[in-house]
Amino acid sequence: MAYRGLIHKYGRRMAISQSATPITLFEGDTPLIDAPRISAWVGGGAKLWLKCEGMNPTGSFKDRGMTAAVTEAVHHGASALICASTGNTAASAAAYAARAGITCCVLIPEGKIAMGKLAGAAAYGAQILAIDGSFDAALELVRLAAERAPIALVNSVNPARLQGQKTAAWEIVEQLGRVPDLVCLPVGNAGNISAYWLGFCENSDRERPKMLGAQAEGAAPIVRGEIVREPETRATAIRIGNPARWLQAEDAVRESAGLILSVTDEEIFEAYHAVAELEGVFCEPSSAAGIAGLRKAMSNGDVDARERDVVCVLTGHGLKDPDSVFDGTPKVVRIGANLDELLRALASEAGVPA
Ligand SMILES: *Cc1c(COP(=O)(O)O)cnc(C)c1O
Repeated sequence: MAYRGLIHKYGRRMAISQSATPITLFEGDTPLIDAPRISAWVGGGAKLWLKCEGMNPTGSFKDRGMTAAVTEAVHHGASALICASTGNTAASAAAYAARAGITCCVLIPEGKIAMGKLAGAAAYGAQILAIDGSFDAALELVRLAAERAPIALVNSVNPARLQGQKTAAWEIVEQLGRVPDLVCLPVGNAGNISAYWLGFCENSDRERPKMLGAQAEGAAPIVRGEIVREPETRATAIRIGNPARWLQAEDAVRESAGLILSVTDEEIFEAYHAVAELEGVFCEPSSAAGIAGLRKAMSNGDVDARERDVVCVLTGHGLKDPDSVFDGTPKVVRIGANLDELLRALASEAGVPA
């Protein structure tokens, strides 16, 4: 039967209202692709697979959580949604609100949102509000607002979000035909790593992967064991200093005998360019933190993944954040509009013999 979204496929295994009518954009069912070249780049002999979550309807994994959260909110009579966001949650909430025919308000940290994300939220018709403050401050504010006003909070503190997001773990097991040995992903508010672990635990009580979470060095509260007041990283989706699901993420890492580590922006960007150039998979910078973390953990000897199946979750699409591709200006070589110059440029720039 044709695919009709997560709730249609997995709703009975999700702790949401079973009689609710799904609000869906047919999210989920994203590709898991093998990645031999990036495996070699990472080193250590592991076999890598990329879970391409940027292929969701609004370009990030947030859609998995949002179909569940918005379905639940509408079922309980909500006529407006609110969220704090580094961008992808805003775009996703706005799309699902539009789909449901209700209002969406998003609160963002001013000036820290990638253009492709803001464009999404605007296109889907959300009311965008910005504060001169961090994501953490924005989250605190929307939590308070949702207590006072008749508006449903759809950040990952909302339990339905994790119910939707855990389905990615089940898809991976179905697509691979077995449980992977290691799953690597970026950690911001820590909802996603918690959701994956929930999914793997519900899938089997014996076979489970180790979880490897990667935070950006300038925004690594869990690694450092303390709140980061002014988190800083160019990977804006994980620019979070006080994760809402902090303890749950620590549990996931401990129970899975995995690890959480930090990577520098330089390491994140190396991985970001490598996965696009070596595999043709364009993710946003934050999404590459899992690959960067894996590479670091292998070279440090923190994980031995030889001959093992490793899944790196690429959380969002590269087109969300086009500015990150170019360090300054795009690398474009101008030539005259004639065949001679084209052939000369092919030889000098691309190594294609004339
Ligand atoms: C939200 C987001 C993250 C972080 O996920 P958490 O659940 O907050 O840890 C990572 N990457 C992208 C692209 C995101 O949108």
